[in-house]
Amino acid sequence: MPGKLKCGVPGALLASAWLAACVTAPANDFRYGEVLCESGGLAISADFPSGGQHGCTVGEDGAITLSVMAETSTSGPINPSPWYAFAVDAARSGPASVTLDYKDYEHRYSPWLRDGDGTWSKLDGAATQVSEDEHRAVISFDAARGTTVVAGHPLLTVQAALSSMRALAVEHGFDEAVYGRSMEGRELSAFTKGASNAGTVIIALTRQHPPEVTGAKGYQAFVEHLLETAPAGFWGDHLLITVPVANPDGVEHGHWRLNMGGVDLNRDWYTQAQPEIAALTAYLEREAGGRRVLAFLDFHSTWRTLIYSPPFENASPDAALLPFLQGTLDDPSCTQPEWIFGHNETSGTSKSWALATLGAPGITVEFGDDEAEANIACTAEQIAESLIEFALTDASAAD
Ligand SMILES: [Zn+2]
Repeated sequence: MPGKLKCGVPGALLASAWLAACVTAPANDFRYGEVLCESGGLAISADFPSGGQHGCTVGEDGAITLSVMAETSTSGPINPSPWYAFAVDAARSGPASVTLDYKDYEHRYSPWLRDGDGTWSKLDGAATQVSEDEHRAVISFDAARGTTVVAGHPLLTVQAALSSMRALAVEHGFDEAVYGRSMEGRELSAFTKGASNAGTVIIALTRQHPPEVTGAKGYQAFVEHLLETAPAGFWGDHLLITVPVANPDGVEHGHWRLNMGGVDLNRDWYTQAQPEIAALTAYLEREAGGRRVLAFLDFHSTWRTLIYSPPFENASPDAALLPFLQGTLDDPSCTQPEWIFGHNETSGTSKSWALATLGAPGITVEFGDDEAEANIACTAEQIAESLIEFALTDASAAD
């Protein structure tokens, strides 16, 4: 496992001194390493997997301000997904308050707290005071003695995401394949289920964009439900290929959007200039090319739950899945995704590539940033059930 570069930015240090002060620490879940600043018995750090990129200053009154910094982008302003995740080590129990400074960006993600037992809870809305221009947010909470993690979503680290898939592997005979390496050398893992000579392929992936945890939760619920619900015999005809962390470096480093090359991977599917996408497209073409790809689902998060789909009339041998899916996602107890149609052949997104290269009806499934986990599972499980129903109906029609 590669080391993790994380830099504190003590306010008084010049940039060159700051760069020299960067340290490489071994990757390890929840390692509260380098202290960024201390005040009033509280020590702030972000030196753990998926920790945010923060500088920290203490005002004359002892108030703690954390800057929320984006990774370097090669293509101008970065998508406004200002991820934050930091640890507060409290020498005493009592009230704690931290100001997040987004500079030109605006507060987006509602804070979650992880207590010393590892339990995450969403902070009451009234505990976050957002400035009128939304460039700053003050988060106030009761700190227990010990460590509290504050983050824009409950952390889903690379390791945790892979562990979930490996647990399913034990239960359901899910095979792990390493299809390449990220820019920093992390393994790129896929998990597959089904006969290697199956005529039909289903593809699901997530986490091109690091902070999109609700999308990753939807992916997990979809995959788990598919494995648990598909009838005996299904896997003789169908091969499931899933990718739980398409951008592991970005997730590891608490990026807002990009990989270590400063590129939005969901714009790189045609150019394939980034190692993560070059490896993934080659792998998918090798595994799925020449077979019928029944569905290609890329799970993300945005402001609300929706599905980006190519127009139904778009040429695809399997476009019939899409209206079927839209018609069957009708459980009133689930959040009903809004459908947004479009197909931009030059956008470089996964779904455009899937349609152009694999002839697959590719869709992007977006879960709302604040969608509750039960709602996410409800929608994701419906998608899995609809897909199974379509696959079985379709197979019997073809007989
Ligand atoms: Zn996304």
